Amino acid sequence: MTRLFNFCAGPAALPTSVLERARDEMLDYQGRGLSVMEMSHRSPEYTAIAEQAERDMRELLAVPSNYRILFLQGGASMQFAMLPYNLLGQGGTPNYLYTGIWGKKAITEARHLASAHVAATSEGNGLTDVPRQEDIQLSGDAAYLHYTANETIGGLEFDYIPDVQVPLVCDMSSSILSGPLDVSRFGVIYAGAQKNIGPAGLTVAIVRDDLLELARPDTPTMFSYKVMAENDSMYNTPSTYAWYLAGLVFDWLKHEVGGLEAMDAINSRKAAKLYAAIDSSDFYSNPIATRSRSRMNVPFVLADDRLNQAFLDEAEATGLLNLKGHRSVGGMRASLYNAVPEAAVDALIAFMNDFETRRG
Ligand SMILES: *Cc1c(COP(=O)(O)O)cnc(C)c1O
Repeated sequence: MTRLFNFCAGPAALPTSVLERARDEMLDYQGRGLSVMEMSHRSPEYTAIAEQAERDMRELLAVPSNYRILFLQGGASMQFAMLPYNLLGQGGTPNYLYTGIWGKKAITEARHLASAHVAATSEGNGLTDVPRQEDIQLSGDAAYLHYTANETIGGLEFDYIPDVQVPLVCDMSSSILSGPLDVSRFGVIYAGAQKNIGPAGLTVAIVRDDLLELARPDTPTMFSYKVMAENDSMYNTPSTYAWYLAGLVFDWLKHEVGGLEAMDAINSRKAAKLYAAIDSSDFYSNPIATRSRSRMNVPFVLADDRLNQAFLDEAEATGLLNLKGHRSVGGMRASLYNAVPEAAVDALIAFMNDFETRRG
C-alpha cells in the first residue's frame, strides 16, 4: 500500500494514523462487537465518543464555557443560510466583508432574508488583499459582521481578527485548528469538516450562548442553533461516523502533534517554504499581497499556461495529487492543511524546481 501526497482543497488529506485507527476499530469498536457506524447515536458507547470529541475540541481551542459546540450537517454552505435565520430575530442589517467566492455565497444567502450590507470589500484590488480594520464601515443598525477567515479558492487569509461592537461571525472552514485562536472575540464560528476537522458530512459551529435567543420566529427547526444546543446536536440523527472521525483527528492533534501551538509552527514553516520557492522563481507566481497570503491554500500559476497539463500529469506521476487550481481561477493550488506533512511540501518544491529546470 502506498499513500501519496494529497494537496486536495477538500475533502482533504486525513492523518494516516487516524485512518489506521479507524481501520483497526472498523468492524469491532473496542470489543463491543459492532462498528461505530452501526451504533445508536443514543447508546452509551456512542454518547461517550461524541462527548469526548466535544471535550477535546473545546480543550484544543480553549473554547470558553459560555460557548456551545454544535455538530451539524449541511456543510458550511448551509451555515450561510442558517446563520441569518438565527441572528436576525430582532431585525437589523447583516454586515459582511467580501474577500472571495465563499464570502459572496454567504452574502447571497443572507439577501434572501434581509438587505445585507458589505462593510468592506477586496474587489478594488482584485481579491488579492484583505481589507484593513480602518476600511470596515458597518451600517448603523448592524446585527452582526460576517467574514471568511481564509478564502480557500483565492488563497486569501486575514492576518488579524476584525474588532467590532456587534457579534463577529466567521466562516473558518479552511483554517480552523490551524493554530491557536481567541474564541472569545467571536459570536459564531463555523466550519465544514472536510478541510481541517475530518471527513465531509459534518459541520461544526461554535456559538456564544446569549446568541441562541436571537432567532427569527420562522426559523426551521433543523436550522435552529438553540434546538441543536438543547439537544446536544442530537435533535435528529447526527453524522455519527464523521463525528467519531473528527474525534480521532482531535486526539491526533492533542497527542501526536502536541496541540495547536505546535500545529501553528508546522503550518507556518510549510507555507513559508512554498511561498519562498514561488517567489524565488520567475516561472511560478502567486498574486496575493504578502500579508494576506493563506497558509492553508497556496494558488500559483506557471509562466506558460500551456504547460499546466504537463505539470499536473508529471506531478501525479511523482506522487503529488490534486494540485489543479479551482475551475474559477485556473492555474495550480496546493492545499497545506494540518494533515499534509512537511515532507509533502518538500517533495512538491523539489518537483517544481525540477519541472522548471526541464520545461521553464
Ligand atoms: C469548503 C468551504 C466552504 C463550503 O463548504 P461545504 O461544506 O462544501 O458547504 C465554505 N467556505 C469555505 C471557506 C470553504 O473552504
